[in-house]
Amino acid sequence: MKDRIVQIIKNIEGYRDGVEFYESLCRCAEYIKTRFKEMGFVVETDDFILKGREYSNIIATSKGIKERRNWILVGAHYDAVHGSPGADDNASGVAVMLEVARMLGPKEPIMFVAFTLEEPQLNTIEFLIGSKHFVNVMKRQGHNFRAAFILESVGYISHKPDSQILPPFVKAPRTGDFIGIIGNKKSIPIMESFKEMASKHVPELKVVTYKAPMKGYLIPETRFSDHAPFWDAGYPAVMITDTAMFRYPYYHTEHDRLEYLSAEFMTQITVALAKTVENMIIQSSGASPSSSSF
Ligand SMILES: [Zn+2]
Repeated sequence: MKDRIVQIIKNIEGYRDGVEFYESLCRCAEYIKTRFKEMGFVVETDDFILKGREYSNIIATSKGIKERRNWILVGAHYDAVHGSPGADDNASGVAVMLEVARMLGPKEPIMFVAFTLEEPQLNTIEFLIGSKHFVNVMKRQGHNFRAAFILESVGYISHKPDSQILPPFVKAPRTGDFIGIIGNKKSIPIMESFKEMASKHVPELKVVTYKAPMKGYLIPETRFSDHAPFWDAGYPAVMITDTAMFRYPYYHTEHDRLEYLSAEFMTQITVALAKTVENMIIQSSGASPSSSSF
């Protein structure tokens, strides 16, 4: 799995903002669609036009999204901020999402979404453009989400003391060797379940959970990814993150490259997340656990 994660990041890494490197962003979208199709998923897109150009969120499910469901969503944005090759932010998230998809396979009611235009763009002050569009459309069409797991920069780990910066009011370890799970009130059971599945299947992975008060408005950084539109629409959603700017020295710079990331860490996150989703499905269906290998 480690090698596959590295390979995916190598394929995605590179300038791909929505304006100057629009063609690269489109190539990245095609790459993700192909990977999902190879794994047997039905791939659809949620398209929209911004300043004369078309952008797409990529949706992978087992049977398509014609029927309304109470989805479990795993998502990650595939665009990168202008001027950065975006290995941690967020090729790492896409790689983990694709590997979770491979572990679980096409299965109801799981939905994988690769979001576009999460980052601020050169030609607008808006961000989270892709996920806002997606949540609006899905809500209007009568879909529901029982859980949304958003992977946002999940590749950087540091074992050095004081490598972890903390925003005001947040209590967490000062060493940046954990994965952070940021949730809203409705997602407390999901955070607990992730912690439990991680300690059972990947005990070496340290998990720190944080419930953001006031939909995250107290610490704006806790809203800096595609989970925020899900919070605003009232769904249980979590951001799974290495904490990005609070830990990673190359956040949003031209140096955000694969060489600084840990394939081991991303593999552990993949397993913990896949087991969490699998467990949710088992609990809701009453079926016995299937054995999945990685
Ligand atoms: Zn990001």
